[in-house]
Amino acid sequence: MASGSYRNGGPKLSAKLDRQHSAVYSTPKASAKSRPPATPAAASSLRRSGSGNPASTPASNKGDAGVPGRVRVAVRLRPRNAEELVADADFADCVELLPELKRLKLRKNNWDSETYEFDEVLTEFASQKRVYEVVAKPVVESVLEGYNGTVMAYGQTGTGKTFTLGRLGEEDNAARGIMVRAMEDILADTSPDTDSISVSYLQLYMETIQDLLVPGNDNIAIVEDPKTGDVSLPGATIVEIRDQRNFVELLRRGEAHRFAANTKLNTESSRSHAILMVHVKRSIKGRHDAEPSLPRENGNASPLLSSLRPPIVRKSKLVVVDLAGSERIDKSGSEGHSLEEAKSINLSLSALGKCINSLAENSPHVPFRDSKLTRLLRDSFGGTARTSLVVTIGPSPRHRGETASTVMFGQRAMKVENMVKLKEEFDYKSLCRRLDIEIDKLIAANERQLKDFEDEVERIRADAQSRIAEAEINYMNSLENERSKYQTDYLESIKKLEEKWRMNHQSSNNDKTRVAHEQCLEKTCNIEGSTASNSEEITRVGQLLLNEKLLRESTEEVNDLKSQVLHWKNLEASASAEIIKLRKMLDNEANQKQKLEEEIRILKGQLLQLSVEADKTRRSLESGGSGKSLTGLDSIMSQARHSQLRDSGNGPKASIAKLFEQVGLQKILSLLESEDADVRIHAVKVVANLAAEEANQEKIVEAGGLTSLLMLLRISEDETIRRVAAGAIANLAMNETNQELIMAQSGISLLSMTAADAEDPQTLRMVAGAVANLCGNDRLQTRLRGEGGIKALLGMVRCGHPDVLAQVARGIANFAKCESRASTQVLSVL
Ligand code: ADP
Ligand code: MG
Repeated sequence: MASGSYRNGGPKLSAKLDRQHSAVYSTPKASAKSRPPATPAAASSLRRSGSGNPASTPASNKGDAGVPGRVRVAVRLRPRNAEELVADADFADCVELLPELKRLKLRKNNWDSETYEFDEVLTEFASQKRVYEVVAKPVVESVLEGYNGTVMAYGQTGTGKTFTLGRLGEEDNAARGIMVRAMEDILADTSPDTDSISVSYLQLYMETIQDLLVPGNDNIAIVEDPKTGDVSLPGATIVEIRDQRNFVELLRRGEAHRFAANTKLNTESSRSHAILMVHVKRSIKGRHDAEPSLPRENGNASPLLSSLRPPIVRKSKLVVVDLAGSERIDKSGSEGHSLEEAKSINLSLSALGKCINSLAENSPHVPFRDSKLTRLLRDSFGGTARTSLVVTIGPSPRHRGETASTVMFGQRAMKVENMVKLKEEFDYKSLCRRLDIEIDKLIAANERQLKDFEDEVERIRADAQSRIAEAEINYMNSLENERSKYQTDYLESIKKLEEKWRMNHQSSNNDKTRVAHEQCLEKTCNIEGSTASNSEEITRVGQLLLNEKLLRESTEEVNDLKSQVLHWKNLEASASAEIIKLRKMLDNEANQKQKLEEEIRILKGQLLQLSVEADKTRRSLESGGSGKSLTGLDSIMSQARHSQLRDSGNGPKASIAKLFEQVGLQKILSLLESEDADVRIHAVKVVANLAAEEANQEKIVEAGGLTSLLMLLRISEDETIRRVAAGAIANLAMNETNQELIMAQSGISLLSMTAADAEDPQTLRMVAGAVANLCGNDRLQTRLRGEGGIKALLGMVRCGHPDVLAQVARGIANFAKCESRASTQVLSVL
């Protein structure tokens, strides 16, 4: 081929590449300006307008086959090193770069060369910042939006793969590599309140996956979800990242273990693949377009249910792969390896080459299953991830063959097409938690309403009874009054009548005397007969009068009784009206209660359904494998925490949390100083349970809980209190800041003292656990040794209980680890 010709640069392909470029990535400059987006929704709309590709919006991607996204490939040239400056002084470089045209010329000889086109061409002067922005930044931004992403370096040993990806840049900030810069961007764009970032760091050597974070973990299995095909490593350690310092420390630890593992296995890092996995989990709020259809009543969602929509989570993964050197290993067995070993060393790399060839040629079968590396990278090539590859080359004409094969690998990878897909799902677990809380609230409110209602009914009943009793008394009183009044009137009128009668009788006597006197004068003879008839008449009139009087009085009495009866009837009618009203109220309340019970029953049904779904999701997640999230050290601590909860004998965690909310931490802590020993025991148990939750630990320490617990160790005579207090301190001692506070407050001598006094193995286990945690802190080593901590730890061996021995062993292991780190640092300083 004539000089200046290039392999894949025909106008047709060139046009295709340009189109795909704009469809898949926003340009680094544009995206740098766009950050940080206010909300994930804003971020996606930003990307939408930037890319001009509506199909890339998360909502529309969900559930479909994804958006095409070609693997992007950049080539980076390393500057001549000292040896090459001397050895190749008289020769030209084997490559010539044309960065503005994104082309690379590979010299065949002095007069002939071949040209290749890449997505980016990075010269020997390209800064680490520029390399990050061109190669990795678009992938990192994509991961932050919920897509999987891969950044990989391929090239001959010594061409700068580790320089590009793994430099920590501690000595020179500008030298920071892709791993460090990617985490900086991820941490800046996420919030610990809603998002979580965790990493695994692994090495793949001779088809064995080793954990670079926990070196003993050296044969990790790959698990594939048979349904989704998703690959995971449940055996790998996953460490939650909170800040950049924490991450850099982890990378440094991984590098040290990689060095140690390679020394032990008599290998070099150039023969192994290093794989960093960053898991990003983000909660998406305020999204209503993608809500699931919840059960509805009468076609309308109840307001309660509409407030209980499942939140959305995006779980994406950034994989950074520092591949083994691409040079061929001498088949006869270089570096003391047998032929079999030599084959398996590069099995993964050659399998990767075959897969990329198959994908580039669109062949129906891609041999992903041929090696562990290709199984792990299944999503990165031909899968759903955005993938960016940087191929590294050296300038030396002596390595022209290796450089040419590296360039060809990059060219083939550029033809691999992925279908990027949003990794978004509903967070049913947290919905279940919310529903549980909501139902508890409803039950409590319902119970309160029921109680109020019963109280009200009781009150109305008592009120009515007292009113009836009052009316009865009033009636009796008025009846009595009337009766006595009529009696008095009656006696009065009798008296008057008698008086009248006496007066009449007297006047008739006077008349009789006068008539007799006159008749004597006239010599009368009939006087006696007329006097007798007068007296009879008067008696009869008097009798008539009396009868009439009695009749009148009885009529009045009857009338009065009639009006009383009427009054009573009225009273009775108003009382029955009141009773009817009360019955109606009772019926209403009973209906309302029935409705509430119905609503609770529906909610419970829905909760059950959701729990079943959540279980299913969890089971499928678990069978997909979510990774082991505890280190060996953490798992021991978690066991200690569980047994401590058992010891404390206090109900479920939830009720403690509730108590914590209701009573308040300050109040609980003040109970630690109570006069009553029982109260003190309960209070320390509650504090121990709270301290078992990482989220509470900072609050407990801020409120002076740690000081109070140490004070209990100092003054308490009661072994139970000392045991539970030591357990709580062990939990608080999991955190580095707390460890230093414990030391500052003479915690180690108090723990030593407790260890010396205690006989109960559970107390010794707690104390040993606390000291073991302190032993993991590099800064406390000298003081631990000087203040008798290590002596006390070893002293606890006397107990012989396996739990205590396990904690002592952990402590000694932690201590030894710190010691060895310290001596490694001293050595490296020397
Ligand atoms: P690899 O990981 O590919 O084997 P390294 O990253 O270890 O290669 O690089 C080999 C050497 O070259 C290291 O000393 C590194 O500092 C140096 N080096 C690599 N790339 C560059 C570069 N772009 N600029 C300066 N030095 C480089
Ligand atoms: Mg390397």
